[in-house]
Amino acid sequence: MAVKTRESRTRDRISIGPRAGAHDIIRLNNFYRGADTAELLKAVLCEKIAGDVALVSSFGAESAVLLDLVAGVDPAAAIFFLDTGKHFPETLAYRDLLIERLGLTNLVTLHPDAGEIAARDDKGLRWSFDPDGCCDLRKVRPLEAALAPFDATISGRKAFQSSTRANLPMFELENATGRIKVNPLARWTVADIAAHMDARALPPHPLVAQGYPSIGCAPCTSKVQPGEDPRAGRWRGWDKTECGLHGEVKTMPPGPGEEPVF
Ligand code: SF4
Repeated sequence: MAVKTRESRTRDRISIGPRAGAHDIIRLNNFYRGADTAELLKAVLCEKIAGDVALVSSFGAESAVLLDLVAGVDPAAAIFFLDTGKHFPETLAYRDLLIERLGLTNLVTLHPDAGEIAARDDKGLRWSFDPDGCCDLRKVRPLEAALAPFDATISGRKAFQSSTRANLPMFELENATGRIKVNPLARWTVADIAAHMDARALPPHPLVAQGYPSIGCAPCTSKVQPGEDPRAGRWRGWDKTECGLHGEVKTMPPGPGEEPVF
């Protein structure tokens, strides 16, 4: 399949209506096939090709790269951070450091509803016997409420992070909400991330050097051994690989004569 050039993308433009469908996602993935990350972010943040958009960041091991790229395009972009009440203190300090260092001006920290916490997790131990319910309470529900006015979100997921993300496309459709999810770093490699961190002298999350290549809430994050998936330390011992914010990754079905869209 032919790939558009940057010039032809600038000339032709593309935009999607308020509630996208599967066909819109195929169009977006095909239109931006081959685009570099800065061009994609400019289209999403400045030209609003997917409508109103917010970045959801965990301020984890590799979050600095996407935050830096976003800051270079639109420092006032909405950055959502879910303060579950279970983060490592190092993550909260890292969040504050990056926000200041990168000059981001629109951090929105979300909290779980206090009444729901009292009713469903008064001892704060739900993670130990019902991690899906705990993530629903502390992550999924607060984020869904905050994202109601938005048409799209930007995530920092990468294909290399785990076998379940291997086919991560640049654009996805959240079937439950009709919202578009943009994955600008989908095809970035470990080396790409490291090179950008070096080139921009971005500070690493302090727990990376202690053996945590993927960092979520403290009770559900453990160190990773050599040879394991970077996300192997998340919910170790549970049949759970995602917090519920990200559905199962589906490769877009190819059209006649097309290769799969990633
Ligand atoms: S990652 Fe663990 S502690 Fe955090 S919300 Fe999910 S189950 Fe709860």
